[in-house]
Amino acid sequence: MVGAVNRTVDVLVVGAGPAGLAAAARLASATVPGWGAASGSPPAPGSASRYRIEVLEREQEAGGVPRHCAHGGFGLTGPGRPTDGPGYARRMVRAAVLAGATVRTGVSATGWAGPLTLDVTSPSGLETISARAVILATGARERPRTARLVPGSRPAGVLTTGELQQSVYLHGVRGARLGRRAVVVGAEPVAHHAVRALRRGGADVVAMVTEQPREPRRLTAVRLPPLLTSAVVTELLGRRRLTGVRLSRPDGRNITIRCDTVIFTGDWIPDHELARAGAVPLDPGTRGPSVDGAFRTGSAGVFAAGDVLRGVESAGVAAAEGRGAADAVLRYLSGEVWPLSAVPVVADRPVGWVAPNRITDAEAGRPLLLRVREPLVRPVVEVAQDGRILHRVRLLGTAWPHRSERLRAAWAREVDPAGGPVTVRIVP
Ligand SMILES: Cc1cc2nc3c(=O)[nH]c(=O)nc-3n(C[C@H](O)[C@H](O)[C@H](O)COP(=O)(O)OP(=O)(O)OC[C@H]3O[C@@H](n4cnc5c(N)ncnc54)[C@H](O)[C@@H]3O)c2cc1C
Repeated sequence: MVGAVNRTVDVLVVGAGPAGLAAAARLASATVPGWGAASGSPPAPGSASRYRIEVLEREQEAGGVPRHCAHGGFGLTGPGRPTDGPGYARRMVRAAVLAGATVRTGVSATGWAGPLTLDVTSPSGLETISARAVILATGARERPRTARLVPGSRPAGVLTTGELQQSVYLHGVRGARLGRRAVVVGAEPVAHHAVRALRRGGADVVAMVTEQPREPRRLTAVRLPPLLTSAVVTELLGRRRLTGVRLSRPDGRNITIRCDTVIFTGDWIPDHELARAGAVPLDPGTRGPSVDGAFRTGSAGVFAAGDVLRGVESAGVAAAEGRGAADAVLRYLSGEVWPLSAVPVVADRPVGWVAPNRITDAEAGRPLLLRVREPLVRPVVEVAQDGRILHRVRLLGTAWPHRSERLRAAWAREVDPAGGPVTVRIVP
């Protein structure tokens, strides 16, 4: 990058959501080995005894997705009281800054100038920032309608949950501008938040629609509209403004629901652009960077944590991953050797993905998250390598496509590092 300022930090974190901020708080409060012990008092943030941690956030405000989730249910795990999204975002930012991390907003990482050097754009110009370690915590995004290939014109009134929440909670859009009659596509918890946001904006939510044959009964504070199962949106009607959605059902019947707003929820894809640009290997199941139990990617010195790994989990899970990545970064900065090879963990349909999805020497044993592609009642999960069964477990209750199952991974210690991929599948 010609004319760009070049700076160096110890750790560069991309993304100031719960994962990146939790990582930054932990890293910034750590003491550089060899410092501090002699004086007896804790070293001050910004002193030479602390690592230089910089967090880049492309939005004007740090905090990530929780900033525009004006509902409770955040911080149910971890320190502090449960709170709403904006409160949680503020808490996470405060903790990182108080620990001594530099959190910069309106600053985007746009590409790689070297294995651990990022091209950065901010209102003050172009920079390259080199680091000893990089943490990718870029979150996930909802795929817009175009990516779902729903035919029809492109009328106004077609939004993702994120766009809806930003309109209602950040920009105060209400009434006719938002819409009067809405349909929500999707039925997982994020869809419930969409229903709530629509009502806050004054819309009548007439239906929820899901392709799944059934959905779990949920304990939710939201009064839910009628749910149409096994229904696929096949067309969006209307020219300038949406006038309806056409649905097809398995029995061949087409239904049209009159509405001026439709919200597509829950079709998450890891925000992996930066990882891809840096040739950081991705996992075909999650479509996020593939990582081992220490959140190490396939590129030396590059770690990844949070929703970028596999789409949306709770903020507490993302923050815990951020802290886990920070612990691994600290070991790396202290000289821990980067693993030269890893055994991939492959999800076999109907298992959709497994994360972490690389087995390396040091961190074998961290529980894995697993998602299935269709509802399965008490499925038996089998983990095998080269025909050798490493683990078999029956899951309790029903496994749902929108809810992760936790798979204990003591078996990972039995993996042959010279063997083939480990497969995770459902057996009859
Ligand atoms: C509608 C909705 C409701 C939810 N409700 C709850 C709830 O009630 N309770 C709960 O615990 N969780 C909830 N969640 C989940 C929670 O918000 C996420 O798990 C959490 O935000 C993930 O954190 P993250 O840091 O991985 O990603 P994010 O929060 O997505 O943060 C990633 C950040 O990286 C930034 N970024 C991306 N690329 C770049 C780049 N190249 N340069 C600079 N910055 C970049 C983005 O702007 C973003 O701010 C909800 C999520 C949604 C969508």
